[in-house]
Amino acid sequence: MDFDEYRRRGKEMVDYIADYLENIRDRKVFPDVKPGYMRNLLPESAPVEGEEWENIFKDIEKVIMPGVTHWQSPHMHAYFPALNSFPSLLGDMLADGINCLGFTWASSPACTELETIVMNWLGKMIGLPDDFLHINSGSKGGGVIQTTASESTLVCLLAGRTRAIKRFHEKTPGYQDAQINARLVAYCSDQAHSSVEKAALIGLVRMRYIESDNNLAMRGDPLREAIEDDINQGLIPFWVCATLGTTGACAFDNVEEIGKICREFNLWLHLDAAYAGSAFICPEFRVWLKGIDRADSIAFNPSKWLMVHFDCTTLWVKDSTAVHRTFNVEPLYLQHENSGLAIDYMHWQIPLSKRFRSLKLWFVLRSFGIKGLQKHIREGVRLAQKFEALIAADQRFEVPAKRHLGLVVFRVKGDNELTEKLLKRLNHRGKIHCVPASLKGKYVIRFTVTSTRTTADDILNDWYEIRQVATELLEELNIIIADRTKVPLKDTKERNEAFGSSLLLSNSPMSPKVVNGSFAAIFDADEFLAKTYAGIRIAHQDSPSMRRRVKGILMSGKQFSLDSHMDIVVQSSAGSKTCGNSNPIREDNEDSWDSSKGSL
Ligand SMILES: *Cc1c(COP(=O)(O)O)cnc(C)c1O
Repeated sequence: MDFDEYRRRGKEMVDYIADYLENIRDRKVFPDVKPGYMRNLLPESAPVEGEEWENIFKDIEKVIMPGVTHWQSPHMHAYFPALNSFPSLLGDMLADGINCLGFTWASSPACTELETIVMNWLGKMIGLPDDFLHINSGSKGGGVIQTTASESTLVCLLAGRTRAIKRFHEKTPGYQDAQINARLVAYCSDQAHSSVEKAALIGLVRMRYIESDNNLAMRGDPLREAIEDDINQGLIPFWVCATLGTTGACAFDNVEEIGKICREFNLWLHLDAAYAGSAFICPEFRVWLKGIDRADSIAFNPSKWLMVHFDCTTLWVKDSTAVHRTFNVEPLYLQHENSGLAIDYMHWQIPLSKRFRSLKLWFVLRSFGIKGLQKHIREGVRLAQKFEALIAADQRFEVPAKRHLGLVVFRVKGDNELTEKLLKRLNHRGKIHCVPASLKGKYVIRFTVTSTRTTADDILNDWYEIRQVATELLEELNIIIADRTKVPLKDTKERNEAFGSSLLLSNSPMSPKVVNGSFAAIFDADEFLAKTYAGIRIAHQDSPSMRRRVKGILMSGKQFSLDSHMDIVVQSSAGSKTCGNSNPIREDNEDSWDSSKGSL
């Protein structure tokens, strides 16, 4: 291929890519091929003689596309997004053409300097404190573009290890590095990404998993307990990874609480914000960054949600000295770390060489501007809210963990098996593509809004697909999910004469316990107890907490409310032992209540 042909073929390729992206809706998002499909389509050995480009090009549609999962499709909802954009694609086209390797400043000064500058831009955009930025040659902090979030986590774990071992040596001489290493302990939540575990495996350090709370967040107290426990056993706690936006449900660890503990015990705190980090360019989502000043490093993937295509993970560290010490293969060179006029990125990463990745990031930041990028993030969140509302309105489904940003997790009420079957069938049909997660034993389907071209109609169509497949499945299995539809006002008296005396909005202070209710019926305490509560009172007479509550109600002389589901009424008259979801006098132990079993 000569220059002229490259010019021609290059333009053809750009057209092909533009056509592909423009018409991606027409392609089935998930391919219909079996493992080994390509073996039959390609020869066993490479061609001896060079081939015409024409023939090579034809094989894209024949060989490659049938086996592609179309990540840019609006119907792709698996994993997290991996978006591209035209400025980003153009950036890599140029970077690939230049193909310089930036390991030292001198190996390609523009490569190093642009990276430092755009990392400062982006750091400011997400509201990082100044000490994470590389403001002048004296700055200890700074940003570096890594290949993946996994690699960033590993880099920071190794840097933390270097720092911990050095500290131990200074306090207690006479040990070898390996002896200290064997006593190191790292911590993350049970919701952390598998790459955190992998980092510990590579670093040969113990990883302790802290149980997350009911919101799937790692909190300070259980972390402190684990640390103190380990210190008592002669171990050396050294590193914590908190996740901002977990892969399972986009939950957020409590950085403020965790940060305090890390400062108290001198542990390296790394924040893995791979997906959610992009959202921090919108000030309203920075609440989750509270306590960032106590962290040592933070990484996120613009290659996920910020339309800079893979690979691009941005990592900031507050003190690059420990990173330098870890990756410096030439001890003499340590002198450079404070005196250097420019960064040598080879000391900030595992490989020697690096691609000119800052070009595509620079093109994206400039083309969209902060406003354009914020608009993109907010639109993704809006569409996820829309999907969440569709799911919530169908009583066969539940959203077992709070939606954050662009990720909705949902499941069919009842056994995990149902949701598993639903997902399998959805993916088999290939019209939409999702992956599962397990949240504290509950199997859920993750639905991420991904594509930049996703419209509200796309979301609606995806919902129709899910609904239709669920209906088929439940019919086949002969399962009827209890109908918990709200009872129309006019029918309430018919169901129970005690209802309908007066009504008010559920968010009024009179009905503090109403859950999911748009309105509530009000009862006087004695009437309430006499008419509707008797059954439950008997069922729970052994429970001290229930006895306390009943006593409280009797003493108060106030009115009490029930929402229009009337669970409590129906269930107590049926002599059931379970309390309704919206039961104002429910047992403390919420686990005993299985909402799928409640029926009118
Ligand atoms: C996606 C993700 C990762 C892994 O990202 P890579 O860049 O592929 O290594 C790690 N942590 C979290 C929270 C993620 O969402």
